[in-house]
Amino acid sequence: MADHVQLFCDFIQKSPSAFHACQTLCEMLDAGGYAPLSENQAWTLVPGGKYYVTRNRSSVIAFAIPQTGFAHFQIVSSHSDSPTFKLKHSCEDESGSYLRLNVERYGGMIMSTWFDRPLSIAGRVLVREGNALHTRLVDLGRDAVLIPNMPIHFNREINDGFKYNAQVDLLPLYGGKDCKGMLRAQIARAAGVTAEDIVSQDLFLYARQPGSVWGAKNEFFSCPRIDDLECAYTSAAAFLQSEAVGHINVLAVFDNEEVGSSSKQGADSTFLSDVFARVGAALGATDSEIRAAIASSFMASADNAHAVHPNHPEKYDAQNRTFMNGGVVIKHNANQKYTTDAVSCAIFSALCEKAGVPVQHFANRSDVLGGSTLGNIANTHTSMNTVDIGLAQLAMHSCVETAGCADAEYMVRALTSLYSHNVVIGADGDIVIE
Ligand code: ZN
Repeated sequence: MADHVQLFCDFIQKSPSAFHACQTLCEMLDAGGYAPLSENQAWTLVPGGKYYVTRNRSSVIAFAIPQTGFAHFQIVSSHSDSPTFKLKHSCEDESGSYLRLNVERYGGMIMSTWFDRPLSIAGRVLVREGNALHTRLVDLGRDAVLIPNMPIHFNREINDGFKYNAQVDLLPLYGGKDCKGMLRAQIARAAGVTAEDIVSQDLFLYARQPGSVWGAKNEFFSCPRIDDLECAYTSAAAFLQSEAVGHINVLAVFDNEEVGSSSKQGADSTFLSDVFARVGAALGATDSEIRAAIASSFMASADNAHAVHPNHPEKYDAQNRTFMNGGVVIKHNANQKYTTDAVSCAIFSALCEKAGVPVQHFANRSDVLGGSTLGNIANTHTSMNTVDIGLAQLAMHSCVETAGCADAEYMVRALTSLYSHNVVIGADGDIVIE
């Protein structure tokens, strides 16, 4: 049996940025016999075909068509990005005899967790070659910068709570002031180009720390970017080991969830609806047939959930609280921050039951404002029965997060059940699972 925690930790090491996560997923799809498509060219698709397409090289949608041709879609969506710091366009910043990097926040991280930790830099650069501009992924792949804490002697109240100023406290140290210009040269070397050819960049800090399994029975693991690459990895693993019979299986991983999804490649874009329309058209479906297929489709929006914190159980709802290693979490919210309703909860619970996977239910305390995720945003473009799910984890948006080892396996089994069974939605609220 595959050790999904170890495979996931390997996935994290290969995925320092959303661009690299997308590339790692594409490599898994290539190995699984999926053919790459381009959004910039017409598509010729055949029944039984397996394909994938990227947008911005940071979001990817893969699909497997059954031998019987066009049908409804069964989708798992997740996100490729994580909270981090982005280097500004001009980022080298002298301070005394030091050279710092000027960065801005990407998403809502727990800032204190980024201090005193050697960090690296990864992302993409645009490179000029004659009249052409080419994208190159780049990863320094070594510890290169660090955001130092103030000593407690200058900040006696640090343990009573501290308000961080992102422009003052969070700038990483890169070297001495004699190192000016070196970042561009080192990025260029890592990208295999010359510094003069780099036109622009999307570069981010990341922690290189490898995953670690720990606990009395080795029941927990910790590593960077568990939210939401754990769902991206487990959904890809389930997708690749499933066969689409009677429906089209879809794996969707979107960038920019951490900053609201409203980019050309985020869940709030046309990416998913464009893919559905083009798959239908390429397989000879009419507009009406495509709309009928979407209305009959089912999506699991997979983004990690909160496990009860061992030191603060009072923060969680009394009945709807979830724990690590307790199984896949179904998320509920009356105000539809989560898309789950009785229909989608029933469908997903039945799929988990068929796979022998335990299910837990999460809702926030009524006096706590929760987060939102992909499902309700994607539904504004492609509306269908959708359930919000995830795995219970600790310290969401910390630089290093923690989750349960048994849960990764549970998620792969639950999503394999979703991809392998045929969810037939006959009419509003009437479903058969074959
Ligand atoms: Zn997330």
